[in-house]
Amino acid sequence: MLMTTSKGNAYDVALENFDSAADQMGLDKDTREMIKYPERILMVTVPVRMDDGHIHRFEGYRVQHSSVRGPAKGGIRYHPQVTLDEVKALATWMTWKCAVVNIPFGGAKGGITCDPKHMSQGELERMTRRYTSAILPLIGPEQDIPAPDVYTNPQTMAWIMDTYSMTKGYPIPGVVTGKPICLGGSLGRNEATGRGVFYTIECACEHLHLPLKGATVAVQGFGNAGSIAAQLLHEAGAKIIAVSDSTGCVYNPNGLNIPELIHMKALCGHVEGFPESEPLAPADLLALNCDILVPAALENTIHTDNVSTVRARIVAEAANGPLTPAADRVLESKGVFVIPDILCNAGGVTVSYFEWVQDEQHLFWEAQDIYNRLERVMKTAFRDVLKIHIERNVSMRIAANMLGIGRVAEAVQIRGIYP
Ligand code: NAD
Repeated sequence: MLMTTSKGNAYDVALENFDSAADQMGLDKDTREMIKYPERILMVTVPVRMDDGHIHRFEGYRVQHSSVRGPAKGGIRYHPQVTLDEVKALATWMTWKCAVVNIPFGGAKGGITCDPKHMSQGELERMTRRYTSAILPLIGPEQDIPAPDVYTNPQTMAWIMDTYSMTKGYPIPGVVTGKPICLGGSLGRNEATGRGVFYTIECACEHLHLPLKGATVAVQGFGNAGSIAAQLLHEAGAKIIAVSDSTGCVYNPNGLNIPELIHMKALCGHVEGFPESEPLAPADLLALNCDILVPAALENTIHTDNVSTVRARIVAEAANGPLTPAADRVLESKGVFVIPDILCNAGGVTVSYFEWVQDEQHLFWEAQDIYNRLERVMKTAFRDVLKIHIERNVSMRIAANMLGIGRVAEAVQIRGIYP
């Protein structure tokens, strides 16, 4: 999660992506002014009594980038390097992402600058509840609906749902998505992002006439998004030759046993030391000779200093913003097929939408129903983006941004300006 200097500021990247697409579309200045910037930004102080008795002050954020097409929607991140600019960037991407998959949400994001790996469950719960009460004026099932992101999970969502419901006096499950199933969560939500990544890779392979069976894959980041994508690719017959997490990287040119690696990661918390694998320097994962590279960790992990080493034919952006714009241009000039983040990882927010719909209806769908609907949404979005990519001769990223920005622009023009 590198925010500044040579590797770029994530919000600058988001604005640069917007401008490139808006220029291609010939979008007028007035519409740009109305949709480019966040609608609301809230910074909050989150005081928490730590287990040793002292009070620690955390900084938290909630940014609503857009509510043009529906309630603002986006995850909450707990990480030491969370900054306001990062949250603004992620909120901006959420707006275009929801529009790319054509779900009736705008974009938002939240975060707390903290180190959750060094906090107890009690500290995390108190921090989450205090943060929830601080952002309470902004959130709600018709207003702004948080979800998990890096180092937040269904338990975090349960605390938010409970805190919100207690202040209102009755249960309101639709205030967050990514909840535990017993609280109104959706089947299939936990694996939705990875599953969506998998569907877009299937589409890309079909487009490039690259058989998925036997294709070699490297996955950077083995959390929710990366591990599920790896598992589905493994089940489809692809060979996952390398996987990394924040502690290390493992490599096996004949393919790693992904279900066992997931099991080990769940037990030990890391991938390092996996049997039938050799260790690899994490930087070397990017340089592996493989068909598909899946960056599924954090922003700006592929930048000018390491992009020349990338040899994959497809880069599937499971993470948000893993390429700096400069690295993106290098990959494009090399003919690498990039599945941009706002398309590739949109499965998570799509099933979040399904969860919200189920909560609002108090009627829950079966897992296969969710998978079928998700596959339809992701493959339709892929085809829509590919069509623009081919017809307008622009990169897949610009094509995705054009699709998303175009839908938001159309909505804002029809709504008009208040008052
Ligand atoms: P997660 O916390 O479950 O996993 C993150 C993984 O990245 C962990 O395995 C961690 O060890 C690893 N990691 C961190 N730094 C690393 C590094 N420098 N090198 C290699 N690995 C590293 O998070 P997640 O939910 O899987 O999110 C990963 C990315 O996917 C983020 O960019 C997130 O915004 C994006 N994303 C997630 C979802 C979702 O529903 N989970 C949806 C859309 C986008």
